[in-house]
Amino acid sequence: MKITEVKTYLMHAGRPDGSWQKRNWLFVKIVTDEGLYGVGEASGWPRVVQTAIQDLTPLLIGEDPFHIEKLWQKLYLAMMGHGMTGIVGSGALTGIDMALWDLKGKALNTPVWNLLGGKIRDHIWAYPHAHNAERALELVERGFTALKIGGVKGVVGKVEAIRRAVGLDIDLMVDAHGPPWLTTRDAIRLGKALEDYDLLFYEDPVAPEHVESLARVAASVELPIAAGERHAAIYGVRELIEREIIDVVQPDTGRAGGLLQMKKIAALAEAHAITVAPHSGSLGPVAAYACLHLLASLPNTLIMEHLEDDVPQRYEVVTPLPVIEAGHILVPDAPGLGVDLVEEAIAKYPSRGNVSPPDPNEEPVYILARTGRARWIQE
Ligand SMILES: [Mg+2]
Repeated sequence: MKITEVKTYLMHAGRPDGSWQKRNWLFVKIVTDEGLYGVGEASGWPRVVQTAIQDLTPLLIGEDPFHIEKLWQKLYLAMMGHGMTGIVGSGALTGIDMALWDLKGKALNTPVWNLLGGKIRDHIWAYPHAHNAERALELVERGFTALKIGGVKGVVGKVEAIRRAVGLDIDLMVDAHGPPWLTTRDAIRLGKALEDYDLLFYEDPVAPEHVESLARVAASVELPIAAGERHAAIYGVRELIEREIIDVVQPDTGRAGGLLQMKKIAALAEAHAITVAPHSGSLGPVAAYACLHLLASLPNTLIMEHLEDDVPQRYEVVTPLPVIEAGHILVPDAPGLGVDLVEEAIAKYPSRGNVSPPDPNEEPVYILARTGRARWIQE
């Protein structure tokens, strides 16, 4: 079997209410001379990643799609002139790797989890996001048993209200989103204020560039620390894992480098008693499927991020939709990833924009933590 064509599909994935207007999804389809194809998804600046995939396509044409590691290494080396590391190249490799796994599974008539070592579990524990007690109760009512609260301002108050509403049986997480303006000491202060709520994890308390800063937070705060969503490939999270700075590693299924890279990251984490909770917040529906196959196969799976009540596009552009029962997503048993693109639906949402302009009323980066500090830290 030989690869004959690599197609990409870039689409707008903003919300009808006007939020997330710069969100795009990028899907990949790798076609072979036998008519069989595989689908994948890539994030990490989707419009730029699309160009990267188009640039890499000539290196894939005529190749045997079964040799995924060989092709990954070939493409990785081809990026040397562009610096190799980085989220764009890693996103491109992710979309291609994912489509190759789907293709291989279909060709062998077996689900991707079977090719990743087999299945440990039939369903994956998942968590949606809640920002107030009312929403938290609604999600618990639907069966979810874990919830994440985002942001820094007023987050302790939100956690307190949600904990009071849902009780101790629901796991809570806080994601500070790695703000570049949060000082290390304030990230520690915030973490200490959250200790009483026994979170499942405290995520990205500082910006991902600052490894020593994260190490200081981890040494000072008695909560499991999670990070890794903005790093590329196994090399990006190596130090966090080897130094055991984090307790939970969060490779992004759309841009970490692909399922093979994520399997390696998970293995490295396993050797350090670190669990895996992939980032999926900005992802589309194909990468979410890939994540299910990976997590089904890992011994150190913790939980999967899940967008409940996402944009209407999510429920139109793929088939079938994942099945969620009692806060868990069922692991698909169909060959490959078990998901396909609905091209007519994708075509209804042409890509629009790719970056979010900063708020014109706010000075960028460092200023935020230096104004009204007492109020945002005490709330
Ligand atoms: Mg995050």
